[in-house]
Amino acid sequence: MRADLLIVGQGLAGTLLGWELERAGIPFAIADAGHGRAASRVAAGLLNPITGRRLVKSWRVETLRPIAREAYHGLESMLGVPLWQEMRVRRSFADERQRTVFAEKQRSGALAPFVGAGDADGFWIEEAARVDLTALLAGARRRWQERGVLREGEVHWDEALAGHELVIDCAGEGGVGRFEFVPWEFSKGEVLTVTVEGLDPRVILNHGHWVCPLTSGTALVGATHEFGLRNAVPSMSARTALGASATELLKRPWTVTGQSAGVRVTLPDRRPVAGRHPSQPRLGLLGGLGAKGVLWAPWLARQWVNHLTEGVPFESEVEVGRFLTNRSSQA
Ligand SMILES: Cc1cc2nc3c(=O)[nH]c(=O)nc-3n(C[C@H](O)[C@H](O)[C@H](O)COP(=O)(O)OP(=O)(O)OC[C@H]3O[C@@H](n4cnc5c(N)ncnc54)[C@H](O)[C@@H]3O)c2cc1C
Repeated sequence: MRADLLIVGQGLAGTLLGWELERAGIPFAIADAGHGRAASRVAAGLLNPITGRRLVKSWRVETLRPIAREAYHGLESMLGVPLWQEMRVRRSFADERQRTVFAEKQRSGALAPFVGAGDADGFWIEEAARVDLTALLAGARRRWQERGVLREGEVHWDEALAGHELVIDCAGEGGVGRFEFVPWEFSKGEVLTVTVEGLDPRVILNHGHWVCPLTSGTALVGATHEFGLRNAVPSMSARTALGASATELLKRPWTVTGQSAGVRVTLPDRRPVAGRHPSQPRLGLLGGLGAKGVLWAPWLARQWVNHLTEGVPFESEVEVGRFLTNRSSQA
């Protein structure tokens, strides 16, 4: 199918963008080289509203979570598969300091409305969720293949730009070279798949690493963060570290059935990035999803549609030109 708009990459970013374009009635084509190195292939699909050692709410989570929920429910209807699962997180305190941070933040209301009951060992995080990314990617791929919208294979950027009015880079780690002024950072991450009996399928256990149930008998254990590493090769050191966390969190026998690795793409300000290349406006971008792709991708995809249909500018905190401004002001 010929379309003026080409999305490069059908990971989480490309899939959400394709879905928003489809429901806005904007024709598009999408090309993907296969999910072999896609970060979306290994991600657990978690949306956790409170993260980090200092227990902080994810950026704009109050407004972005409802947008994400609506988008994934819409995709469920379109694809005919369940994707969105409401979850709770049982977060254990790492040490006395974290216990104190929690007490202060609970008292001040800084964690509302996502914080639940606390006790001496930890507390509950409410309104977490898990998106089944395997089902999402496979379902969307099937749909767009059947409609002749999706092409399998590596895109050559110059050819793509010559043949389309607009090419939007949703290629994750594979697409960063086109936006040479963006200070990309990389973080390798790994997860284990384990079998274990008697899990509560609605509860994520979190103590440094997390255990996220897929069913009552299988779970993902993750995730490692190795800043600066840009390879997707599973390692023995990650297996050992995640195995130790699985033992501590599960407190019963478990068996590893799989291990996978991927590369997160992040920016120094820990915000995602979207918009047009400043000197090549026919090249667009939706990326830098870091560890929050599930939360951020639906909102960024919607910004792209608002931009294309009504000329709405991208929000300044995510717009790709913010890196040019920083550079010129430092010069
Ligand atoms: C271990 C781990 C756990 C994670 N857990 C979570 C989590 O629980 N929750 C969360 O929100 N995020 C999580 N993340 C982060 C999440 O995976 C990413 O934010 C998100 O998947 C990035 O999606 P993307 O579409 O930008 O890139 P990708 O998923 O990498 O997709 C890019 C696609 O583009 C294709 N491509 C690249 N170059 C080309 C080309 N030239 N031509 C054609 N196709 C091309 C690739 O083949 C790939 O399919 C995790 C990441 C890791 C590594």
